[in-house]
Amino acid sequence: MRTETTEILIIGAGPAGSVAAGMLRQQGREVLILEKEQFPRFSIGESLLPQSMEYIEAAGMLKAVVEAGFQYKNGAAFACGDRRTQFDFRQKFSKGWGTTYQVQRADFDKVLADEAARMGATVRFRHEVLAVDVDGEQPVVTVRSPEGETYRVQARFLLDASGFARILPRLLKLESPSGFPARGAIFTHVADRVAPGSATFDRNKILITVHPEHQDVWYWTIPFSNGRCSLGVVAETSFLSRYEGTETERLKAIVGEDPGLCELLAEAEWDTPARQIVGYSANVKSLWGKNYALLGNAGEFLDPVFSSGVTIAFKSASLASACLAREFAGETVDWEADYGKPLRAGVDTFRCFVEAWYAGGFQKIIFHPNPSPDIREMICSILAGYAWDKANPYVAENKRRLAVLEQLCSA
Ligand code: FAD
Repeated sequence: MRTETTEILIIGAGPAGSVAAGMLRQQGREVLILEKEQFPRFSIGESLLPQSMEYIEAAGMLKAVVEAGFQYKNGAAFACGDRRTQFDFRQKFSKGWGTTYQVQRADFDKVLADEAARMGATVRFRHEVLAVDVDGEQPVVTVRSPEGETYRVQARFLLDASGFARILPRLLKLESPSGFPARGAIFTHVADRVAPGSATFDRNKILITVHPEHQDVWYWTIPFSNGRCSLGVVAETSFLSRYEGTETERLKAIVGEDPGLCELLAEAEWDTPARQIVGYSANVKSLWGKNYALLGNAGEFLDPVFSSGVTIAFKSASLASACLAREFAGETVDWEADYGKPLRAGVDTFRCFVEAWYAGGFQKIIFHPNPSPDIREMICSILAGYAWDKANPYVAENKRRLAVLEQLCSA
């Protein structure tokens, strides 16, 4: 079997892999991305957070993303029966981008992968990584090409950006329980036919709707720039399994339980079969090892409720690229101190908010009729993805602050 060599080998051309490739190409590194699928391909995770723009910009990909014509996004709206509230990301505590996009991931991921290639990374589609050996001096992966040839690639450093496939965690037995109950999502794209200027649907915002009877069941409505939107429901798998039929019938039945969504989507054309994904929350014992690191979903994935997945994927790419710049300059890098720990710090902030969401406390906070403007700006920062900004008390002391605020809002 023939063996190729490269400096940096990246498994997966999703957001984590392509943005890492852009950042590493800017350092002059030789980068090879191996991607199992042919792009464009469908992926879930369509609502970005403003914090993610910083990393798209740092990777040198901003112009391409801006010019792609995605739906502008400036906030998040929440509905629960008659209660409604919305956050404008431009009115936030943290500095930085206050707007972003809602993207069809098939197109978005292709834009990023094409940018990585334009910047000099070699991107091979339909090349599937089958096995990984990290025990030797340098990591070696075994790959199957579209023609069925099996070959090896040896790299100075391996970045696993394989998303939910979680190649290294599975092969190296790094997986650990997520701590969240098994939840799942059923989702589709519809031609929404919502009248322009609707009072209940701002196309510049994601709409999160809480189920009228079950506070831990919620729906997303993510408008795109072409008159369509992504529609999905998230619930524990035990709840989802009560509904029978095709995924489209099940999704329609659950959407039918919320009067507000029924009214909003009364004219919608359901032209795309729905899909289901279950048990996506995952964790790992370590985010790095000898000459390798796990990026994005290949590491930890929490929950979709705050649309944090792509932002975390980009943050991981950014931290890993900075570590690699130092390592290639001859410095000794402490990957736990400079990669694992800082990445987990923001993930843990999101975790705290996700837990509060499902327990119901966060909903009391956001729907409170008389919120403090200052605190709302701090909460808005988290919703905009600024989960690493320690100047924000709701980052620095997330658990304690949230608990106190929840108590105040319950009084
Ligand atoms: P991916 O985007 O999964 O990319 C991994 C790539 O690796 C894929 O292209 C895959 O084909 C490739 N690959 C896999 N195995 C191999 C192999 N053996 N060889 C070669 N290539 C391989 N995030 C948000 O930011 N906003 C949202 O609104 C949002 N909504 C979500 C809703 C749901 C229901 C779920 C489950 C997640 C949601 N997410 C959201 C999370 C988001 O989907 C992920 O966090 C994000 O896609 C992670 O990017 P990634 O680059 O790590 O992995």
